[in-house]
Amino acid sequence: MARVYNFSAGPSMLPEYVLRKAQADLLDYQGSGQSVMEMSHRSPWFEDILHNTEAAMRRVLGVPDNYKIGFFQGGATQQFAMVPLNLMTTGTADYIVTGNFSKKAAEEAAKFGIARIAASSKDKNFTYIPDVKAIEYDPNASYIHICQNNTIFGTKFAELPQVAGVPLVADMSSMIFSEPTDVSKYGCIYFGVQKNVAPAGMAVAILREDLLGRSAKGIPAENIPTMMNYTTLLKADSMYNTPPCWCIYMTGLMMEYLEHEIGGLDAMKKINEEKAALLYAYLDGQDFYKNPVEKPFRSLMNVTFTSPSPELDKEFCAEAAGAGLLNLKGHRLVGGMRASIYNAMPREGVIKLVEFMEQFRKAHA
Ligand SMILES: *Cc1c(COP(=O)(O)O)cnc(C)c1O
Repeated sequence: MARVYNFSAGPSMLPEYVLRKAQADLLDYQGSGQSVMEMSHRSPWFEDILHNTEAAMRRVLGVPDNYKIGFFQGGATQQFAMVPLNLMTTGTADYIVTGNFSKKAAEEAAKFGIARIAASSKDKNFTYIPDVKAIEYDPNASYIHICQNNTIFGTKFAELPQVAGVPLVADMSSMIFSEPTDVSKYGCIYFGVQKNVAPAGMAVAILREDLLGRSAKGIPAENIPTMMNYTTLLKADSMYNTPPCWCIYMTGLMMEYLEHEIGGLDAMKKINEEKAALLYAYLDGQDFYKNPVEKPFRSLMNVTFTSPSPELDKEFCAEAAGAGLLNLKGHRLVGGMRASIYNAMPREGVIKLVEFMEQFRKAHA
């Protein structure tokens, strides 16, 4: 069996530990005589899975007691609408646009109120993050929205906007669990799980309790579609209807991996920093490849680079795939290459990539 190094931005690699556990449980989950894919979501086995997954997530991420955790379908993109529908109580919110996903989030919010673009890094093709301390925030904003790690452009916020009385809402899809997070700095954290947690099919939202029971200005709470109403869904412990059972189970296995195999998010961060440092150090030490991102805002998870020409980029990706290094093509908005090196990418994979890059450089420089 040959496993490849998959650098896809998502869905992406899962740790072998998680895959093997799922495999071992597949035909007969803990004596139930069935797989998690087959069992009722109201069965005692699944109720335990849901409860344990949430409890483990609280331990691993350090989620304070005054926050609720919800497991939803619809991906991170549905959260772009759920956030304003449920939280835009003043009819306006501040959006910091640092890439394609934050732009989409703002566009979605504009359907329910005013999505004010408080700052943007579009002027330099999203290669940096605006100075969050220099931004003039709207004191009447219901919340400030950021996309904390920009999956497509390979940037990450080095500092968080913190405005008294205005909750911070963050899309953390491509960085959640990659490093410790101080949840108390946020009113709401949300993420699609297919980048760094589990297979595709679920989004998670972590919400401060005092933000529940509300709705966008002009939209009565009872008019929010049921499946988009945080308050209804969280009151039912994510079991208002059939939840994404398999994703919840796989998320639980990932929490077990982070807690017991890795030793928590401090340890995970160290591993991720070492991996990213290998790649960035190589990029900084030559001038065949270019990384366009301003250094303080480099992502730990998504590393973008280009070769001297689009033709060579294409050749690079094709040859890399032949060498077992898959999905290195950059997003169409950026071109070039992107290596997504999430938690599950082994250090070996990054070393192999750097070796391949050097070999390719020598052949084409
Ligand atoms: C992938 C991604 C999304 C979109 O996620 P879906 O689950 O496909 O809706 C949104 N935000 C960020 C930061 C992402 O990386």
